[in-house]
Amino acid sequence: MSGSKLDSKADFNMEQVKAAVKQSVEAQRRELEELSLKIHKNPELAMEEVKASGWLCDYLEHYGFKVERGFCQLPTAFRASYGKGKPVIAFLAEYDALPGLGHGCGHNIIATSSVGAGVAGKVAVDRFGGCLQVMGTPAEEGMGGKILLAQRGAFKNVDATMLVHPGTRDTALMQSLGCSILDVEFWGKSAHAASRPEQGINALEAMIMAFNAINSLRQHIKDRCRIHGIITDGGQAANIVPAHCAGNFMVRAPDDVYLEDLKARVLDCFKGAALASGARLEYRWSDMTYAPIRANLALAEVFTRNMESLGRRMEPYDPLKSMGSTDMGNVSQLVPAIHPSIAIAPTSICNHSPEFAAAAASEEGHQALLIAAAAMSMTAAELLGQPGLLAKVKEEFLQSS
Ligand SMILES: [Zn+2]
Ligand SMILES: [Zn+2]
Repeated sequence: MSGSKLDSKADFNMEQVKAAVKQSVEAQRRELEELSLKIHKNPELAMEEVKASGWLCDYLEHYGFKVERGFCQLPTAFRASYGKGKPVIAFLAEYDALPGLGHGCGHNIIATSSVGAGVAGKVAVDRFGGCLQVMGTPAEEGMGGKILLAQRGAFKNVDATMLVHPGTRDTALMQSLGCSILDVEFWGKSAHAASRPEQGINALEAMIMAFNAINSLRQHIKDRCRIHGIITDGGQAANIVPAHCAGNFMVRAPDDVYLEDLKARVLDCFKGAALASGARLEYRWSDMTYAPIRANLALAEVFTRNMESLGRRMEPYDPLKSMGSTDMGNVSQLVPAIHPSIAIAPTSICNHSPEFAAAAASEEGHQALLIAAAAMSMTAAELLGQPGLLAKVKEEFLQSS
């Protein structure tokens, strides 16, 4: 069913290779849908994706990939390779779920479309040489698995990379925001809230003042920035002045420079609240900063063409349509990358909702995973078979730094 069975001596042209890629995806249909549903039914949180990564590795091993499990000292990461030498094109697989929502971000579709693309792409490697990788990248949601993998050199040898994220639009280029995560704590002094309030220092009030200061700040920052947070400890009882209050915040901006500026201004909101309340502030920025996606138009153009040949209508690039943040942003700063979106639900439904989780196991979801697999694999075939195209993609990457 895969490329290895095709006669490598035949004088393929690119269209024939692409036809074989499509056939391979079609032949994998039942297995890919089953795998997607199995991952969907067994949601595992970030860094705990033992079953999903195991199943994906088994699948790739079965189809002749050399699989390294526990890649880069991350137990649920993997790297599967087919072929050798250069160039190296990597499909990335995400497979973590969300607390309380299961696969509300549809990562089961990302995982299965990438393994499907890898297996289907064997025909291109057999014909043109080079290497295809499927890299299992755990913990996209909040823990930045790809940031860790990047820090550990996982992308050093990769020439171009891609994954397709399910969403509500078909588009090859998604914007993402840079994002920093902040943990804050206020330390005050407990006291009887009614009989001795004057002896207390109210840590919760400090947090509320910080929220209000951030709300004021929000009026005077650039469009598309986001600041949002939750209180994780707001006190123990209403009759005790809260001596401790803790919260977790995210600060997002479309570019790194403005993100740094915004982080300083957000921190001032907490510092001001500490001064006003008398509570002591402790804070820690996470070392996981999500970088914005660096768009690669040349690569996106090839992917768009392949998607359209498969019957999808792609929306043009709209840099003002924002999404959240993704650790793919950090990868895209290191190597040419695309992070397209494929629709599995109407625009009235958003990611991170129970409705989206249902869509990730629906007929539309299955259809999207097969089309994404074929389009990625066809795009990789062009990169492997047309050195000039890869050179153009790399040139744009260098120019956009
Ligand atoms: Zn998500
Ligand atoms: Zn996601």
